[in-house]
Amino acid sequence: MSGWVEETLHEDLHVKLKIDRVLFDSQTEHQHLVIFENETFGRAMALDGVMQTTEKDEFIYHEMLTHLPIYAHGSVRKVLIIGGGDGGMLEEALKHPSIEKVTMVEIDRSVVDLCTTYLPSISNGAFDDPRADLVIADGRDFVANCEDRYDLVIIDSTDPIGPGAVLFTETFYRDCRRCLSEGGILVTQNGVPFVQAEELTSSVSFFRALFKDATCYLATIPTYVGGPMAFGWATDNGELRMTALAELRARFDAEPVETRYYTPEVHQGAFALPPYVSELIR
Ligand code: SAM
Repeated sequence: MSGWVEETLHEDLHVKLKIDRVLFDSQTEHQHLVIFENETFGRAMALDGVMQTTEKDEFIYHEMLTHLPIYAHGSVRKVLIIGGGDGGMLEEALKHPSIEKVTMVEIDRSVVDLCTTYLPSISNGAFDDPRADLVIADGRDFVANCEDRYDLVIIDSTDPIGPGAVLFTETFYRDCRRCLSEGGILVTQNGVPFVQAEELTSSVSFFRALFKDATCYLATIPTYVGGPMAFGWATDNGELRMTALAELRARFDAEPVETRYYTPEVHQGAFALPPYVSELIR
């Protein structure tokens, strides 16, 4: 591979990132994996031609899918991550000393190994934390057979193509709900609504059939083009999303974690949806 990585996720919108140096480029057991260097985004990874993560902006995505539900819940002890091979989600979750265990279920061992080798700043040693439990398996099968209960389930998956497609089905979400402890929260990577509207509409409609409280929240990540990305939110405890700013601030001050995007104020603002998004999940 030379010159440019051209992302081909959208039919009529292609994004090209200049390759300054290719670090890895090959087929794994499940997908085609490329890790390369780019002046603006730093080291970056693409799977099957779709950008996954970059050193320079991964913090936004990983902080908003971990700290927001963790501070909203207030007493998360056990977390389940589905996907997340780069280890960024694991790293952010383990920043909380009160969290006892994080189980991460990733289908592709090569993603974990190659990201640890070529993108070490993203996982930052999290795989060596004694509270981390890495399982190499298909997330769909894991939740279908899981007996454990988790306070938070985070779906850090690829898009609904290839191995990730099964992670956007009603059956999968139903099994995720069964793995939640009482009042637990499910959050999901749900694409960029402006260019992936159907992905969000479909997931939230499944959540509505399964949970008492279902919506999404937003954050803009430069790597994922087309405007703000949507994160699915589903729980049976409708009060969690209404947690007052003063209470969020008190929880953040009581167990501060180093962040570059997440704050209690950003948290509260993320649920303020513009009409073009709220219309998609009406
Ligand atoms: N932030 C990225 C995004 O928004 O597209 C996701 C990054 S993360 C690297 C996605 C991970 O999901 C990949 O490592 C991929 O191997 C994993 N994955 C895809 N399908 C899976 C499945 N069925 N079970 C478990 N992991 C899966």
